[in-house]
Amino acid sequence: MKFRTRAIHHGQEKDPQTGAVTPPVYFTSTFVQPGAGDWGEYDYSRSGNPTRTALETTAASLEGCGDGGALAFASGMAAIHCVTGLLKSGDHVLAGSDIYGGAYRLFHKVMNRAGVEISLADATDPTAFAAELRPSTKLVWVESPGNPRMSICDYAAIAEVAHRHGALMGCDNTFATPVLCRPLEQGVDIVMHSATKYYGGHGDVLGGLLAVSTKELYDQLYFLQNATGAVLGPMDCFLVSRGIKTMELRVLEQSRTAMRLAEWLDPLPGVERVLYAGLPSHPGHAIAKRQMQGGFGGMLSLELKAGYEAAKRFVGATKLFQLAVSLGGVESLIEQPASMSHASYDAADRAKHGITDGLIRLSVGLEDFDDLRADLQQAFDAAASV
Ligand code: PLP
Repeated sequence: MKFRTRAIHHGQEKDPQTGAVTPPVYFTSTFVQPGAGDWGEYDYSRSGNPTRTALETTAASLEGCGDGGALAFASGMAAIHCVTGLLKSGDHVLAGSDIYGGAYRLFHKVMNRAGVEISLADATDPTAFAAELRPSTKLVWVESPGNPRMSICDYAAIAEVAHRHGALMGCDNTFATPVLCRPLEQGVDIVMHSATKYYGGHGDVLGGLLAVSTKELYDQLYFLQNATGAVLGPMDCFLVSRGIKTMELRVLEQSRTAMRLAEWLDPLPGVERVLYAGLPSHPGHAIAKRQMQGGFGGMLSLELKAGYEAAKRFVGATKLFQLAVSLGGVESLIEQPASMSHASYDAADRAKHGITDGLIRLSVGLEDFDDLRADLQQAFDAAASV
């Protein structure tokens, strides 16, 4: 079956008892057992719950997990944290320099306490990136498109380098979604999503997902998830599952609108640069074209010529684009990464990796293109008129 059909039917079969088209939500913490020491399919909701299984089954189908599987967490950060449970003191993580601020914080300010070392490198050049691997590197972690500079890295090339080195490769595929990119098919070992974003799709739930294609890795991560406990609750699993049914439609349309906005913004006199992999001028365009299908995503960033103060006025002047962190919902959002989503980067690392004060990030929703363009136009006018 095709992606869109699986998104609606895999893991979401009718309830055999009542015929309900939407499977029931299992609000229970525990399950009666057949006998002492004789475990049924479910025993306790941290270890497993049918509503979570339904979501994980759909996600595993969409991500192409094969013999592995998907795991649902209480947030995207809980999912990344679970991956770090595979590491031990003395191990090194090599991460791309264009990653979510929360991942940066977890690696630099939490995992360091457990003796795990971390360094960042530009992942857009696999050869230069490979040169940063250390004998102790056990995990490589990247995002494509990266957050917030929309950089593109070549998943297959980096997976090859990581595997030759004996390291696992993980990626945060939140921006691309499995609609546009399925990294497991390109050799990536662990795919992570903030399900808060496009999976849920409506700005009403927090969640995280991991997807892997081997049973061995699935078993290790399942053990860590059950041992540490940051599972997604039944109601939130239901909300993410409901969101998934329209994910392909939403993401394709959001990508189309983002592309049109990028093309409109790019030549404007006040715009220094638009960062969007769909533009042929983007340095990662050719790789993105090969690695993604159906579009380049609903996220784009831009830098204004007038710099920080103008950027601040601009993000405060949009009306449809609401000033908020997060992304991937039906409503468009705008933010300034340096002071919002990436405030947890050290200032020196922000400067080094191009997270300037003038950088603006847009999450393109499902509103009409003309209305979104008009909103940005009036914000340009307002920012210029002060
Ligand atoms: N990864 C990316 C790319 C994100 O944008 C975010 C949140 O903004 C996360 C991970 C963390 O996810 P959550 O907020 O669900 O913990």
